Amino acid sequence: MAEETPQVAPSSEAPRAPKIKVRKPKQRSCDERNEKGKLCAGHLKRWYELTPEVEAIVGKGAEIYRCEFCKVLFRPDPKQLPNSYTLRY
Ligand SMILES: [Zn+2]
Repeated sequence: MAEETPQVAPSSEAPRAPKIKVRKPKQRSCDERNEKGKLCAGHLKRWYELTPEVEAIVGKGAEIYRCEFCKVLFRPDPKQLPNSYTLRY
């Protein structure tokens, strides 16, 4: 009799929450590192097709960028928000 192949995954699997980072000032490329420690450096592109999971976190119609390679999501740098708060001395 053949031994049963173990195919039951450990039950500790957490629900997959989308990973959302925050862009650093002037950041244009992804700073994720893969398991070998190599910088991803993918281009961050404006991402319009927010999934419901992401919308639940960032809000509907939020400005979100996504790495073209590893698909990590980025929120805009909070200091670079639109001109509603222009510095005037
Ligand atoms: Zn990336």
